[in-house]
Amino acid sequence: MSQKHERSEAYFLEAQKYIPGGVNSPVRAFKNVDRSPIYIERGKGSRVYDADGNEYIDYIGSWGPLILGHAHSAVTAAVQATAERGTSFGLPTTEETAIAKLVTEVVPSIDVVRMVNSGTEATMSALRLARAYTKRNKILKFEGCYHGHSDSLLIKAGSGVATLGLPDSPGVLESTGQHTLTVPYNDLDSARVAFQKFGHDIAAVIVEPVAGNMGVVPPNPDFLEGLRRLTSHYGGLLIFDEVMTGFRVDYHCAQGKFGVIPDLTTLGKVIGGGLPVGAYGGKREIMELIAPAGPVYQAGTLSGNPLAMAAGLVTLNELGRDGNYELLEERGARLAEGIATNADEAGVPYTINRVGSMVCMFFTDEKVESYEQAKKADTKLFSRYFNEMLDRGIVIPPSQFEGMFISTAHTAEDIERTIEGNREALLAL
Ligand code: PMP
Repeated sequence: MSQKHERSEAYFLEAQKYIPGGVNSPVRAFKNVDRSPIYIERGKGSRVYDADGNEYIDYIGSWGPLILGHAHSAVTAAVQATAERGTSFGLPTTEETAIAKLVTEVVPSIDVVRMVNSGTEATMSALRLARAYTKRNKILKFEGCYHGHSDSLLIKAGSGVATLGLPDSPGVLESTGQHTLTVPYNDLDSARVAFQKFGHDIAAVIVEPVAGNMGVVPPNPDFLEGLRRLTSHYGGLLIFDEVMTGFRVDYHCAQGKFGVIPDLTTLGKVIGGGLPVGAYGGKREIMELIAPAGPVYQAGTLSGNPLAMAAGLVTLNELGRDGNYELLEERGARLAEGIATNADEAGVPYTINRVGSMVCMFFTDEKVESYEQAKKADTKLFSRYFNEMLDRGIVIPPSQFEGMFISTAHTAEDIERTIEGNREALLAL
Protein backbone atom coordinates (compact mmCIF):
# COMPACT_ATOMS: atom_id res chain seq x y z
CA MET A 1 0.00 0.00 0.00
CA SER A 2 2.92 2.35 0.76
CA GLN A 3 2.97 5.29 -1.61
CA LYS A 4 5.97 6.85 -3.26
CA HIS A 5 6.82 10.44 -2.38
CA GLU A 6 10.17 10.81 -4.15
CA ARG A 7 9.29 13.94 -6.09
CA SER A 8 7.73 15.68 -3.09
CA GLU A 9 10.87 14.88 -1.10
CA ALA A 10 13.13 16.31 -3.80
CA TYR A 11 10.98 19.44 -4.14
CA PHE A 12 11.14 19.99 -0.39
CA LEU A 13 14.95 19.72 -0.36
CA GLU A 14 15.12 22.29 -3.16
CA ALA A 15 12.65 24.62 -1.41
CA GLN A 16 14.71 24.63 1.78
CA LYS A 17 17.53 26.31 -0.13
CA TYR A 18 15.42 29.37 -0.83
CA ILE A 19 12.56 29.52 1.70
CA PRO A 20 12.91 29.43 5.52
CA GLY A 21 12.15 25.85 6.46
CA GLY A 22 11.09 25.27 2.88
CA VAL A 23 7.55 26.60 3.37
CA ASN A 24 5.61 29.84 3.50
CA SER A 25 3.60 28.86 6.59
CA PRO A 26 5.09 26.61 9.29
CA VAL A 27 2.46 23.86 9.56
CA ARG A 28 2.98 22.98 5.87
CA ALA A 29 6.38 21.50 6.68
CA PHE A 30 4.66 18.44 8.28
CA LYS A 31 7.11 18.64 11.21
CA ASN A 32 4.41 17.60 13.68
CA VAL A 33 3.96 14.32 11.86
CA ASP A 34 7.65 13.50 11.49
CA ARG A 35 7.85 13.51 7.71
CA SER A 36 8.33 15.82 4.76
CA PRO A 37 5.33 17.45 3.09
CA ILE A 38 3.50 16.37 -0.03
CA TYR A 39 3.64 18.80 -2.95
CA ILE A 40 0.26 19.38 -4.52
CA GLU A 41 -0.15 19.71 -8.28
CA ARG A 42 -3.90 20.15 -8.49
CA GLY A 43 -7.18 19.70 -6.70
CA LYS A 44 -10.75 19.05 -7.82
CA GLY A 45 -13.78 18.65 -5.59
CA SER A 46 -12.86 16.61 -2.52
CA ARG A 47 -9.54 15.44 -4.03
CA VAL A 48 -5.96 16.67 -4.25
CA TYR A 49 -3.23 15.12 -6.41
CA ASP A 50 0.43 15.26 -5.46
CA ALA A 51 3.60 15.52 -7.51
CA ASP A 52 4.14 11.75 -7.38
CA GLY A 53 0.73 11.01 -8.85
CA ASN A 54 -0.96 10.05 -5.57
CA GLU A 55 -4.63 10.94 -5.13
CA TYR A 56 -6.05 11.89 -1.73
CA ILE A 57 -9.43 12.67 -0.22
CA ASP A 58 -8.57 16.03 1.29
CA TYR A 59 -9.70 17.23 4.72
CA ILE A 60 -7.36 20.22 4.92
CA GLY A 61 -9.33 22.25 2.38
CA SER A 62 -6.66 24.95 2.44
CA TRP A 63 -7.23 25.11 6.24
CA GLY A 64 -10.87 26.01 5.93
CA PRO A 65 -11.56 28.26 2.95
CA LEU A 66 -12.55 25.55 0.46
CA ILE A 67 -16.00 24.76 1.80
CA LEU A 68 -17.17 24.13 -1.77
CA GLY A 69 -14.19 21.89 -2.53
CA HIS A 70 -11.25 22.46 -4.85
CA ALA A 71 -11.59 24.31 -8.15
CA HIS A 72 -15.36 24.67 -7.86
CA SER A 73 -16.56 25.47 -11.38
CA ALA A 74 -18.50 28.63 -10.46
CA VAL A 75 -15.60 30.01 -8.41
CA THR A 76 -13.04 29.25 -11.12
CA ALA A 77 -15.25 30.83 -13.80
CA ALA A 78 -15.74 33.99 -11.72
CA VAL A 79 -12.00 34.34 -11.09
CA GLN A 80 -11.18 33.81 -14.77
CA ALA A 81 -13.81 36.27 -15.99
CA THR A 82 -12.66 38.88 -13.47
CA ALA A 83 -8.98 38.43 -14.36
CA GLU A 84 -9.79 39.18 -18.01
CA ARG A 85 -10.88 42.66 -16.91
CA GLY A 86 -7.81 43.31 -14.76
CA THR A 87 -6.44 41.96 -11.51
CA SER A 88 -6.16 45.06 -9.33
CA PHE A 89 -6.84 48.77 -9.66
CA GLY A 90 -6.43 50.37 -6.26
CA LEU A 91 -9.65 52.18 -7.11
CA PRO A 92 -13.14 51.15 -6.02
CA THR A 93 -15.14 48.44 -7.79
CA THR A 94 -18.81 47.55 -7.29
CA GLU A 95 -17.90 43.95 -6.33
CA GLU A 96 -16.58 45.32 -3.03
CA THR A 97 -19.99 46.81 -2.28
CA ALA A 98 -21.77 43.62 -3.35
CA ILE A 99 -19.86 41.38 -0.96
CA ALA A 100 -20.05 43.94 1.86
CA LYS A 101 -23.83 44.16 1.40
CA LEU A 102 -24.18 40.40 1.51
CA VAL A 103 -22.02 40.11 4.64
CA THR A 104 -24.03 42.80 6.45
CA GLU A 105 -27.28 41.06 5.53
CA VAL A 106 -26.15 37.63 6.68
CA VAL A 107 -23.88 38.19 9.72
CA PRO A 108 -26.01 39.39 12.66
CA SER A 109 -23.40 41.66 14.31
CA ILE A 110 -22.17 43.37 11.16
CA ASP A 111 -23.62 46.70 9.98
CA VAL A 112 -20.47 47.80 8.19
CA VAL A 113 -17.49 45.72 7.04
CA ARG A 114 -13.92 46.46 5.91
CA MET A 115 -12.01 44.01 3.70
CA VAL A 116 -8.36 43.17 4.35
CA ASN A 117 -6.04 40.45 3.02
CA SER A 118 -5.77 37.90 5.82
CA GLY A 119 -7.21 36.80 9.12
CA THR A 120 -4.14 38.23 10.84
CA GLU A 121 -4.85 41.68 9.46
CA ALA A 122 -8.50 41.39 10.44
CA THR A 123 -7.84 40.61 14.12
CA MET A 124 -4.95 43.07 14.37
CA SER A 125 -7.14 45.86 12.99
CA ALA A 126 -10.13 44.90 15.14
CA LEU A 127 -7.97 45.20 18.27
CA ARG A 128 -6.68 48.61 17.22
CA LEU A 129 -10.25 49.71 16.66
CA ALA A 130 -11.42 48.31 20.01
CA ARG A 131 -8.62 50.12 21.84
CA ALA A 132 -9.39 53.36 20.05
CA TYR A 133 -13.13 53.07 20.70
CA THR A 134 -12.85 52.21 24.39
CA LYS A 135 -9.69 54.26 25.05
CA ARG A 136 -8.40 51.25 27.01
CA ASN A 137 -5.22 49.18 26.69
CA LYS A 138 -5.69 45.55 27.55
CA ILE A 139 -7.19 42.63 25.71
CA LEU A 140 -8.31 39.30 27.07
CA LYS A 141 -7.78 36.16 25.03
CA PHE A 142 -8.02 32.43 25.64
CA GLU A 143 -5.32 29.81 25.85
CA GLY A 144 -5.21 27.65 22.75
CA CYS A 145 -7.08 30.15 20.58
CA TYR A 146 -5.12 31.41 17.58
CA HIS A 147 -5.90 34.78 16.10
CA GLY A 148 -3.09 35.22 13.59
CA HIS A 149 0.44 36.39 14.21
CA SER A 150 0.23 40.07 15.17
CA ASP A 151 2.33 40.91 18.23
CA SER A 152 -0.53 41.49 20.69
CA LEU A 153 -1.90 38.05 19.93
CA LEU A 154 1.32 36.06 20.05
CA ILE A 155 1.14 35.99 23.82
CA LYS A 156 0.84 32.97 26.04
CA ALA A 157 -0.60 32.76 29.51
CA GLY A 158 1.49 33.97 32.41
CA SER A 159 1.61 31.71 35.46
CA GLY A 160 -1.50 31.71 37.62
CA VAL A 161 -5.03 32.75 36.91
CA ALA A 162 -5.50 36.04 35.11
CA THR A 163 -1.95 37.29 35.16
CA LEU A 164 -0.37 39.35 32.40
CA GLY A 165 0.95 37.48 29.42
CA LEU A 166 4.40 36.55 28.15
CA PRO A 167 5.62 36.73 24.56
CA ASP A 168 5.15 33.48 22.69
CA SER A 169 7.78 34.32 20.10
CA PRO A 170 11.15 36.04 20.11
CA GLY A 171 10.73 39.50 18.63
CA VAL A 172 7.54 40.29 20.53
CA LEU A 173 8.20 42.94 23.18
CA GLU A 174 7.65 41.99 26.79
CA SER A 175 5.77 45.25 27.15
CA THR A 176 3.28 43.96 24.58
CA GLY A 177 2.61 41.00 26.85
CA GLN A 178 1.72 43.45 29.60
CA HIS A 179 -1.43 44.30 27.72
CA THR A 180 -2.59 40.81 26.81
CA LEU A 181 -4.35 38.71 29.43
CA THR A 182 -4.81 35.01 28.77
CA VAL A 183 -7.20 32.66 30.56
CA PRO A 184 -8.32 29.08 29.78
CA TYR A 185 -11.01 28.51 27.13
CA ASN A 186 -14.47 27.70 28.48
CA ASP A 187 -13.42 29.03 31.89
CA LEU A 188 -15.83 31.82 32.65
CA ASP A 189 -14.71 32.03 36.29
CA SER A 190 -11.14 32.89 35.25
CA ALA A 191 -12.45 35.46 32.80
CA ARG A 192 -14.48 36.95 35.64
CA VAL A 193 -11.37 37.16 37.84
CA ALA A 194 -9.50 38.90 35.01
CA PHE A 195 -12.31 41.43 34.75
CA GLN A 196 -12.37 41.95 38.50
CA LYS A 197 -8.65 42.76 38.40
CA PHE A 198 -8.37 44.68 35.15
CA GLY A 199 -11.93 45.28 33.92
CA HIS A 200 -11.60 49.06 33.80
CA ASP A 201 -8.71 48.71 31.33
CA ILE A 202 -9.91 45.80 29.16
CA ALA A 203 -10.68 47.12 25.70
CA ALA A 204 -11.86 43.80 24.32
CA VAL A 205 -12.27 40.10 24.77
CA ILE A 206 -11.33 38.20 21.63
CA VAL A 207 -12.51 34.61 21.29
CA GLU A 208 -12.96 31.87 18.72
CA PRO A 209 -16.66 31.07 19.27
CA VAL A 210 -15.76 27.48 18.38
CA ALA A 211 -12.06 26.96 19.00
CA GLY A 212 -10.47 25.44 15.92
CA ASN A 213 -6.79 25.89 16.62
CA MET A 214 -6.41 23.40 19.49
CA GLY A 215 -8.25 20.70 17.64
CA VAL A 216 -11.97 21.46 17.71
CA VAL A 217 -13.36 22.66 21.04
CA PRO A 218 -16.98 23.80 21.18
CA PRO A 219 -18.03 26.49 23.64
CA ASN A 220 -19.68 25.14 26.78
CA PRO A 221 -23.26 26.25 27.41
CA ASP A 222 -23.22 29.82 28.76
CA PHE A 223 -19.53 30.47 27.93
CA LEU A 224 -20.23 32.86 25.07
CA GLU A 225 -23.25 34.40 26.81
CA GLY A 226 -21.13 34.86 29.92
CA LEU A 227 -18.49 36.73 27.93
CA ARG A 228 -21.24 38.88 26.45
CA ARG A 229 -22.49 39.74 29.93
CA LEU A 230 -19.00 40.47 31.30
CA THR A 231 -17.99 42.75 28.43
CA SER A 232 -21.30 44.61 28.53
CA HIS A 233 -21.03 45.04 32.28
CA TYR A 234 -17.48 46.41 32.22
CA GLY A 235 -17.85 48.40 28.99
CA GLY A 236 -15.34 46.42 26.91
CA LEU A 237 -16.01 45.08 23.44
CA LEU A 238 -16.69 41.45 22.58
CA ILE A 239 -14.88 40.33 19.44
CA PHE A 240 -15.75 37.01 17.83
CA ASP A 241 -12.88 35.81 15.72
CA GLU A 242 -14.88 33.97 13.09
CA VAL A 243 -12.00 33.66 10.63
CA MET A 244 -12.48 29.89 10.79
CA THR A 245 -16.11 29.55 11.91
CA GLY A 246 -17.57 32.29 9.70
CA PHE A 247 -19.82 30.72 7.03
CA ARG A 248 -18.36 27.37 8.14
CA VAL A 249 -20.50 26.31 11.10
CA ASP A 250 -23.60 28.14 9.86
CA TYR A 251 -24.48 30.57 7.09
CA HIS A 252 -25.03 33.14 9.84
CA CYS A 253 -21.69 32.16 11.38
CA ALA A 254 -21.18 30.93 14.97
CA GLN A 255 -22.95 34.01 16.33
CA GLY A 256 -26.07 33.04 14.37
CA LYS A 257 -25.78 29.42 15.45
CA PHE A 258 -25.38 30.20 19.16
CA GLY A 259 -27.43 33.39 19.27
CA VAL A 260 -24.76 35.53 20.92
CA ILE A 261 -24.04 38.82 19.18
CA PRO A 262 -20.55 40.34 19.54
CA ASP A 263 -19.64 43.99 18.98
CA LEU A 264 -17.04 43.20 16.33
CA THR A 265 -16.48 40.14 14.16
CA THR A 266 -13.43 39.09 12.18
CA LEU A 267 -13.77 36.94 9.10
CA GLY A 268 -11.41 35.25 6.63
CA LYS A 269 -10.98 31.86 4.96
CA VAL A 270 -14.45 31.04 3.49
CA ILE A 271 -15.29 34.65 2.55
CA GLY A 272 -12.29 34.65 0.21
CA GLY A 273 -13.32 31.44 -1.56
CA GLY A 274 -9.67 30.33 -1.56
CA LEU A 275 -8.14 33.70 -2.37
CA PRO A 276 -6.39 35.89 0.22
CA VAL A 277 -9.10 37.75 2.16
CA GLY A 278 -9.89 38.79 5.69
CA ALA A 279 -12.53 41.20 6.97
CA TYR A 280 -13.68 42.87 10.14
CA GLY A 281 -17.03 44.41 10.82
CA GLY A 282 -19.52 45.33 13.46
CA LYS A 283 -21.65 48.09 14.80
CA ARG A 284 -21.71 51.20 12.64
CA GLU A 285 -20.92 53.46 15.58
CA ILE A 286 -17.66 51.58 16.18
CA MET A 287 -16.70 50.89 12.57
CA GLU A 288 -17.04 54.53 11.58
CA LEU A 289 -13.96 55.33 13.61
CA ILE A 290 -11.95 53.73 10.79
CA ALA A 291 -10.23 55.94 8.22
CA PRO A 292 -11.38 57.73 6.14
CA ALA A 293 -14.68 57.90 8.07
CA GLY A 294 -12.73 58.39 11.31
CA PRO A 295 -9.22 58.69 12.76
CA VAL A 296 -8.23 55.01 13.23
CA TYR A 297 -5.78 54.20 10.47
CA GLN A 298 -5.96 50.99 8.46
CA ALA A 299 -5.33 50.51 4.73
CA GLY A 300 -4.27 48.00 2.08
CA THR A 301 -2.89 48.17 -1.47
CA LEU A 302 -4.66 44.95 -2.42
CA SER A 303 -7.61 45.12 0.01
CA GLY A 304 -10.90 44.35 -1.72
CA ASN A 305 -8.94 42.84 -4.59
CA PRO A 306 -11.25 42.09 -7.54
CA LEU A 307 -10.23 38.43 -7.90
CA ALA A 308 -10.70 37.78 -4.19
CA MET A 309 -14.05 39.62 -4.11
CA ALA A 310 -15.28 37.59 -7.10
CA ALA A 311 -14.25 34.27 -5.55
CA GLY A 312 -15.74 35.23 -2.20
CA LEU A 313 -19.02 36.49 -3.60
CA VAL A 314 -19.62 33.36 -5.67
CA THR A 315 -18.71 31.16 -2.71
CA LEU A 316 -21.11 32.94 -0.36
CA ASN A 317 -23.90 32.91 -2.95
CA GLU A 318 -23.44 29.19 -3.61
CA LEU A 319 -23.36 28.49 0.13
CA GLY A 320 -26.60 30.39 0.63
CA ARG A 321 -28.52 27.84 -1.42
CA ASP A 322 -30.81 25.48 0.44
CA GLY A 323 -29.44 22.33 1.94
CA ASN A 324 -25.70 23.02 2.11
CA TYR A 325 -25.40 23.27 5.87
CA GLU A 326 -27.71 20.30 6.36
CA LEU A 327 -25.45 18.34 4.02
CA LEU A 328 -22.31 19.41 5.90
CA GLU A 329 -23.96 18.44 9.20
CA GLU A 330 -24.96 15.04 7.84
CA ARG A 331 -21.47 14.31 6.47
CA GLY A 332 -19.82 15.49 9.69
CA ALA A 333 -22.14 13.42 11.89
CA ARG A 334 -21.58 10.27 9.84
CA LEU A 335 -17.80 10.73 9.82
CA ALA A 336 -17.66 11.28 13.59
CA GLU A 337 -19.89 8.28 14.21
CA GLY A 338 -17.80 6.06 11.93
CA ILE A 339 -14.54 7.10 13.56
CA ALA A 340 -15.96 6.48 17.04
CA THR A 341 -17.07 2.95 16.10
CA ASN A 342 -13.63 2.23 14.62
CA ALA A 343 -11.76 3.59 17.63
CA ASP A 344 -13.90 1.44 19.95
CA GLU A 345 -13.11 -1.61 17.83
CA ALA A 346 -9.38 -0.81 17.72
CA GLY A 347 -9.26 -0.06 21.44
CA VAL A 348 -7.62 3.32 20.85
CA PRO A 349 -8.24 6.03 23.48
CA TYR A 350 -10.18 8.84 21.83
CA THR A 351 -12.46 11.83 22.17
CA ILE A 352 -14.25 13.23 19.16
CA ASN A 353 -15.27 16.88 19.13
CA ARG A 354 -17.34 18.19 16.26
CA VAL A 355 -19.29 21.25 15.26
CA GLY A 356 -20.91 20.75 11.85
CA SER A 357 -18.18 20.18 9.28
CA MET A 358 -15.30 20.73 11.75
CA VAL A 359 -14.30 17.34 13.14
CA CYS A 360 -11.44 16.41 15.45
CA MET A 361 -10.36 13.07 16.87
CA PHE A 362 -8.17 13.56 19.93
CA PHE A 363 -5.99 10.64 21.02
CA THR A 364 -7.12 10.86 24.64
CA ASP A 365 -10.17 9.39 26.32
CA GLU A 366 -10.62 12.42 28.55
CA LYS A 367 -13.07 15.14 27.53
CA VAL A 368 -11.49 18.12 25.76
CA GLU A 369 -12.92 21.50 26.69
CA SER A 370 -9.69 23.48 27.05
CA TYR A 371 -6.13 23.62 25.74
CA GLU A 372 -4.87 21.98 28.95
CA GLN A 373 -7.08 19.00 28.18
CA ALA A 374 -6.27 19.00 24.45
CA LYS A 375 -2.58 18.78 25.33
CA LYS A 376 -3.22 15.43 27.03
CA ALA A 377 -3.71 13.88 23.59
CA ASP A 378 -0.99 11.49 22.46
CA THR A 379 0.72 13.41 19.66
CA LYS A 380 3.10 10.54 18.85
CA LEU A 381 0.13 8.29 18.24
CA PHE A 382 -1.47 11.04 16.16
CA SER A 383 1.67 11.27 14.04
CA ARG A 384 1.54 7.54 13.28
CA TYR A 385 -2.18 7.80 12.57
CA PHE A 386 -1.63 10.69 10.15
CA ASN A 387 0.92 8.67 8.20
CA GLU A 388 -1.33 5.59 8.11
CA MET A 389 -4.15 7.74 6.75
CA LEU A 390 -1.89 9.36 4.16
CA ASP A 391 -0.80 5.93 2.99
CA ARG A 392 -4.47 5.11 2.43
CA GLY A 393 -5.08 8.16 0.26
CA ILE A 394 -6.60 10.41 2.91
CA VAL A 395 -4.95 13.67 3.92
CA ILE A 396 -5.95 15.29 7.20
CA PRO A 397 -4.37 18.35 8.83
CA PRO A 398 -0.84 17.34 9.89
CA SER A 399 -1.33 18.22 13.57
CA GLN A 400 -3.34 16.86 16.48
CA PHE A 401 -4.36 20.44 17.23
CA GLU A 402 -6.30 21.09 14.04
CA GLY A 403 -9.68 19.86 12.88
CA MET A 404 -10.66 18.15 9.65
CA PHE A 405 -12.68 20.32 7.28
CA ILE A 406 -15.48 18.72 5.27
CA SER A 407 -16.69 20.45 2.10
CA THR A 408 -19.92 20.22 0.14
CA ALA A 409 -17.85 18.34 -2.47
CA HIS A 410 -17.29 15.41 -0.09
CA THR A 411 -19.76 12.75 -1.20
CA ALA A 412 -21.37 10.13 1.04
CA GLU A 413 -19.05 7.67 -0.67
CA ASP A 414 -15.99 9.79 0.19
CA ILE A 415 -17.06 9.71 3.83
CA GLU A 416 -17.52 5.92 3.77
CA ARG A 417 -14.10 5.47 2.16
CA THR A 418 -12.62 7.72 4.81
CA ILE A 419 -14.26 5.72 7.59
CA GLU A 420 -12.87 2.50 6.11
CA GLY A 421 -9.39 4.09 5.80
CA ASN A 422 -9.67 5.30 9.38
CA ARG A 423 -10.59 1.78 10.52
CA GLU A 424 -7.55 0.26 8.85
CA ALA A 425 -5.31 3.06 10.12
CA LEU A 426 -6.47 2.70 13.73
CA LEU A 427 -6.11 -1.08 13.62
CA ALA A 428 -2.58 -0.66 12.24
CA LEU A 429 -1.43 1.54 15.16
N1 PMP B 1 -8.07 33.64 13.42
C1 PMP B 1 -8.41 32.34 13.36
C2 PMP B 1 -9.53 31.83 14.22
C3 PMP B 1 -7.72 31.48 12.51
O1 PMP B 1 -8.06 30.19 12.47
C4 PMP B 1 -6.67 32.00 11.72
C5 PMP B 1 -5.88 31.12 10.77
N2 PMP B 1 -5.92 29.79 10.97
C6 PMP B 1 -6.38 33.36 11.82
C7 PMP B 1 -7.11 34.15 12.67
C8 PMP B 1 -5.29 33.97 10.99
O2 PMP B 1 -5.68 34.02 9.65
P1 PMP B 1 -4.57 34.13 8.50
O3 PMP B 1 -3.81 32.85 8.52
O4 PMP B 1 -5.39 34.32 7.26
O5 PMP B 1 -3.74 35.32 8.80
